[in-house]
Amino acid sequence: LEERARSCLLRFRHRLEQDIKPSYLMDHMISDGVMTVDEEEKIRTKDQSAALLELLLMKDNRAYISFYNSLIKESYDDLAHLLREDLPSIFCEAHKSSSDSATSYVQTVLSEGGVPQRPVVFVSRPELVNRVREKLYWLQKDPGWVTVFGMAGSGKSVLTAEAVRHHGLIEGEYHLSLLILDDIWDSTVLKAFDIHCRILLTTRNRSLTDSVSGAKYEVGVQSGLDENKGLEILALYTKMKPHGLPEEARSIVRECKGSPLVVSLIGALLKDNPNRWCYYLRQLQQKQFKRIRKSSSYDYDALDQAMAASIEVLPDEHRELYKDLTVLEKDIKIPAKVLSVLWDLEPEEVEDILQEFVDKSLLFVDSHHKPYLYYLHDLQLDFLVEQNRTQLESLHSKVVRQYQQHYRDGPPTSGDEECLYWIRFLTYHMAKANLSQELYSLMFSLDWVSTKSQIMGPAHLINDYVEYGSILDKEFQEFLSQNGHQLEERPFPDVVQLALSQPHNSEVYRQARLQAQDRTSTG
Ligand code: ADP
Repeated sequence: LEERARSCLLRFRHRLEQDIKPSYLMDHMISDGVMTVDEEEKIRTKDQSAALLELLLMKDNRAYISFYNSLIKESYDDLAHLLREDLPSIFCEAHKSSSDSATSYVQTVLSEGGVPQRPVVFVSRPELVNRVREKLYWLQKDPGWVTVFGMAGSGKSVLTAEAVRHHGLIEGEYHLSLLILDDIWDSTVLKAFDIHCRILLTTRNRSLTDSVSGAKYEVGVQSGLDENKGLEILALYTKMKPHGLPEEARSIVRECKGSPLVVSLIGALLKDNPNRWCYYLRQLQQKQFKRIRKSSSYDYDALDQAMAASIEVLPDEHRELYKDLTVLEKDIKIPAKVLSVLWDLEPEEVEDILQEFVDKSLLFVDSHHKPYLYYLHDLQLDFLVEQNRTQLESLHSKVVRQYQQHYRDGPPTSGDEECLYWIRFLTYHMAKANLSQELYSLMFSLDWVSTKSQIMGPAHLINDYVEYGSILDKEFQEFLSQNGHQLEERPFPDVVQLALSQPHNSEVYRQARLQAQDRTSTG
């Protein structure tokens, strides 16, 4: 281990020991091959954090780098920051925006090799660049594949070109011959190159290398640029200082979750039309992707085409299933079992399909959570909603019908992940499907009301009444305004009883009476 790195570890040892959870970090280090399972076993029997640091001090630079990368993967950004300054030298140039990378030698080699130059407006992504370089380092020893995967426009190609723009990699101790394949869709392409060479490829499909042989490494470009990097791009395009940007700038970056493609597309437009901040933000909010036209360096006419291309390669039946995801709420993560109800398929089969979506960068998975939770990127969801705008009602109805079919013997009652989804969102789907009868009877059903208030707390229930009451009828809203204060009471009042005191010719009364009769008949 380099002296600098060692003393850095020693300096921050105490802080690291206090804050880290070694088991996750060790998983990454084992998969990077810098730590053995035996070593992990030993550490598990001791004071884990201290033992892990002890071991690191005896290891080499690669272990330090892998430790650093695992801190980042596990979101210990502060700790990673402490170690960053002293990352062993072959990888750290990326942080210094590198006089090294710009040497004419490097430029010549890369341009002869057909590697594209940096885009005119460029921001560095040092952690990602380091991860790719680290993987390339592994290829030295053992020919094989490094896959850079991520959704359309996440910056894979730019990142990949940047990773090889490095003197140390193409010259001297680390030099290697390397074939770079950009934007690969089909594994038959890879088969042609399955000849024991070193390949770096970008793709949206994570599992592309499943069918070829040799060592395989991967780097996911999962999240967008952080806010400051996004702002930096807009500032560079518009030739302004980042702190002098109008307030819309931040909203634009947030709205597209830092997607490098979208931020750059809008930056390029603003360069020509500097008075249109507000207009482009509105376009983005209203999902008018078609008008956010292409920037010259990008292959797709517009963002929507880029998204559509990803979906088009799915087999027909999976494309239909993907469409069903249109009904999800933003930022909501769901377990496979919910979709197993929606699609009427075995949970295992659902997991396989979801994995395919994840591999094609059409869906994200939170694998720290057991069971795994799946979710869409905001842009993907916006795209789906835009594409299926005319079918929203029927897509939501499908959810409700499938739920009713699955739970025909009674609603879910436990607090597990799958049930929670239904308890939380069934009313939402009914409302969007315009199924007001169903919504009425659910909101007056004693079982439902008591389960929901027990499991989610009364606030959620009240929220349902307020939010969805408005799509029922005027009488319901009157009922709510007269009785709202009682909903604050604990235990939660019997809404059917309250509703029975409404005028007898009202729909509220009729619905409550139905429920009451139902109760007597079922005892
Ligand atoms: P992908 O290969 O993931 O589809 P690209 O690497 O082609 O995405 O990037 C798409 C666009 O996003 C680029 O044309 C560029 O305008 C912008 N972009 C990507 N990465 C960066 C970056 N680091 N700095 C500035 N712009 C970037």
